[in-house]
Amino acid sequence: MSVRVRFAPSPTGFLHIGSLRTALYNYLFAKHHGGTCILRIEDTDRTRFVEGAIEEQISSLAWAGVTFDEGPHVGGNHGPYTQSERFDLYREYGMKLVGNGTAYYAFDTSEELDAMRLRQQNAGIAPKYDRSSMRNQYTLGELETARLLEEGAMHVIRLKVPLQQDIRFNDLIRGEVVVNGREIDDQILLKSDGFPTYHLANVVDDHLMEITHVIRAEEWLPSTPKHIILYQAFGWEPPKFAHVPLLLNPDRSKMSKRHGDVMVRDFAAKGFFPEALVNFVALCGWNPGTDNEFFSMQELIDSFGLDRVNKAGAVFDYQKLNWMNGEYLKKRNVHDLARELHPKLLERGYPYVSESYVADVIELVRERVAFLADISEFADYLFGDTLAPLTPEAQEVLAKVPTLKTAIETFKTGLSLETLASQDAFKGLAQSAADAAGVKQGALMKPLRLVLTHREVGADLFRTLQLIGVERCVQRFDAFLAG
Ligand code: GLU
Repeated sequence: MSVRVRFAPSPTGFLHIGSLRTALYNYLFAKHHGGTCILRIEDTDRTRFVEGAIEEQISSLAWAGVTFDEGPHVGGNHGPYTQSERFDLYREYGMKLVGNGTAYYAFDTSEELDAMRLRQQNAGIAPKYDRSSMRNQYTLGELETARLLEEGAMHVIRLKVPLQQDIRFNDLIRGEVVVNGREIDDQILLKSDGFPTYHLANVVDDHLMEITHVIRAEEWLPSTPKHIILYQAFGWEPPKFAHVPLLLNPDRSKMSKRHGDVMVRDFAAKGFFPEALVNFVALCGWNPGTDNEFFSMQELIDSFGLDRVNKAGAVFDYQKLNWMNGEYLKKRNVHDLARELHPKLLERGYPYVSESYVADVIELVRERVAFLADISEFADYLFGDTLAPLTPEAQEVLAKVPTLKTAIETFKTGLSLETLASQDAFKGLAQSAADAAGVKQGALMKPLRLVLTHREVGADLFRTLQLIGVERCVQRFDAFLAG
């Protein structure tokens, strides 16, 4: 049987970084096995519906390179796989369970349910629907139930959990899971408005869509025994389950909005490359079994397997992500990068930026930054003449060479296309400047960089001078000499 998996987001917000990883694992698993990955929108809970969330989630996934074979945006004959369009179906299936005695009518009002919970709380027991004391088909009897239904009394359909039974399943990541029926709530399947709950719609769809593997976040693990009971109730073969570990903050708390930006769009806005984010996220919880840390999407597809997904929560190491982005920045095609950065520099009003010049600057400084966008700040002195103010520390460095002006005069007069044509020619000029000022050549390099860039650190100095150019260097020397 060929592999069919699904990513099943609810449109309750933008795409969370953890959801990207869940979608990615589904995608990688499907592609690795030559299978199918579908997108299904689980919008049964209309109270939590967020306008535009689905569109945002799909576009964030597409940005990351995760696409689907079937689903709402694919169009054509597949899909749309949006649960709100399938409500009649879930009702029909829910009623089948009432028919075969694995689900039942319950008529309790919310006040009655509140009172039940309070009783349980006072008695120190876990909250759970108490089938034997509440108003349902079993306590009321068939006749009364029929009468209430006839009258149109408000009711829900609940799952009849087999209380004596151990519910077991084998999770591909966590191994065997066993839960006793007594610990499982008689879950509502159809609400009083006739809408299905997540559990019913999820199981019906996974079955009808012939899902072979359910790969989802660990937070759904407690729901799975209910799902197993539902499969039994329908007489269906359950799919295989794999619950992937949570993403954790460095302090091991759950990664959530409260700790900063956790939406994929936030990472995109910060300037992470989709390839870097995908590479990084794939490794949060999955061990490739080699020392290699760099994987293209195709390489991930080739090596991914659920057998090396860890059970333990995966700490999301922001520093490592930044580092990885920097590594991708070094490897990217410089012309593509220049095409991306160039318009942003024009927007900032920088005067000397042709696209090919931007490419030269990127080539020079990209080793020193993690983000493409950082280059405009890091190398502002290469794009315009307004230099950052000199810091007090920088002033001190300049003051350490009392004869600096003499040296700068020598640089100014000697600087030409010829002296900037080769490292050797430039070294010759630097030596004359050092001789004139009576200092070692090495003592001049930091002050020279400061005079030209107003920064203590930067990329290769000779290449920096070449890019600034003779004319602009001379202007900056003059400004220093006049100061
Ligand atoms: N709709 C659920 C969610 O929002 C999907 C859970 C599952 O994959 O079964 O995460």
